[in-house]
Amino acid sequence: MDQKVALEAIDSYVNAHADEVVAFLKEFIAIRSVTYEEGAAVNFFANKMKEFGFDEVRIDAVGNALGRVGSGKATLLYDAHIDTVEPGNPAVWGMNPLEAQVVDGVLRGRGAVDDKGCLTAAAFAGRAIKELELDKDITLWVSGSISEEDVEGSCVKAMMEESTDIKPDYILVAESSDNRIVRGHKGRALIKIDVPGKCAHASAAWRGENALIKSLPIMERIDKFNEFVEDPFLGCGTIEVTKVECDTPSLNTIPGGAVITCDRRISCGESIEELLKEIEPMISDVKGASARIDTEHVTTYTGYQMECVDYFPSWVLEEQHPLIQAGVAAYKGMFEREPVVGRWDFCTNATHLCGRMGIPAIGYGPGDSSLCHSTDDKVPVAELLDAIRFYAALPLFVPKKG
Ligand SMILES: [Zn+2]
Repeated sequence: MDQKVALEAIDSYVNAHADEVVAFLKEFIAIRSVTYEEGAAVNFFANKMKEFGFDEVRIDAVGNALGRVGSGKATLLYDAHIDTVEPGNPAVWGMNPLEAQVVDGVLRGRGAVDDKGCLTAAAFAGRAIKELELDKDITLWVSGSISEEDVEGSCVKAMMEESTDIKPDYILVAESSDNRIVRGHKGRALIKIDVPGKCAHASAAWRGENALIKSLPIMERIDKFNEFVEDPFLGCGTIEVTKVECDTPSLNTIPGGAVITCDRRISCGESIEELLKEIEPMISDVKGASARIDTEHVTTYTGYQMECVDYFPSWVLEEQHPLIQAGVAAYKGMFEREPVVGRWDFCTNATHLCGRMGIPAIGYGPGDSSLCHSTDDKVPVAELLDAIRFYAALPLFVPKKG
């Protein structure tokens, strides 16, 4: 099919299915899917992909839903996450957050903007591609991945390890961007600094070593630190002390150990080794202090066990990259105007898929990301429909390698 004809066919398809898209998203939102409790929503989404005529649908051992359309040479993976934060207090919402409502063309409910709207758009794009027979040269996988809100990148890491038959050439991370094209975001790491001390009765503190007091100069140096390398697109990294815990058996004992936790935003792909080396001069004169990147043990709703290192690298694709250029061409072809190309200020599953695995990624999604996790979690229906148009058009423009 000629590209122009295909774009027109997609546009008409989306217009004809608009009511169905809204009904789907409402139904999806009604299924509570807080992180680590996504089972019912995953089943719903997998069953819908089957109904939509996807060529293959599976739920992997981790608990992610995966659907495939086509078996052509170029493989694309569209990822959006199924989990949401807690729905929150209906009194503050002024409605039941799981009973989504459309007011003035805007659909509001928990997960509308983060990230069930995006996932709905990806599912309908797959269906449009299948029904319009635009799947001849491509293989499109749609993943409804889990537990992104807690350990972004980790469940898609396990997903890629479990499904070794899926080898994407291109990734689209579907998260809200006001339908702008995204070509990078900062990463993050949780750095823990252990400061040893020695417990003693507070009335005889000279017998011990107060770990909290030993921690003070470290926290001050971290607060003042500003020697970050700057990325021309993502800007500077940051580091902030976010928690201090101490080991004290009673309130009349001086603490025998302290742990300082720092949130470090990464903008230049700094490695774990580089991050720890940067901390070293801030702790080296404090006896016994040492820094590490934390590891969390995670069990998903299926019982799948994972060790998640709290290190999520940044990623950037240059503006001239063929995938970004394909995105720009798809946008111009579909909407007959120039897209805005920018970055995200938050971390997504692209941290693993592009940041660690090095697969070229593009971000795109309907809605205003500043509303994520708020009680004003909402997505304009027109943007939602445009996202389906973009997701369905993109494969027509990507280089058909394999
Ligand atoms: Zn999200």
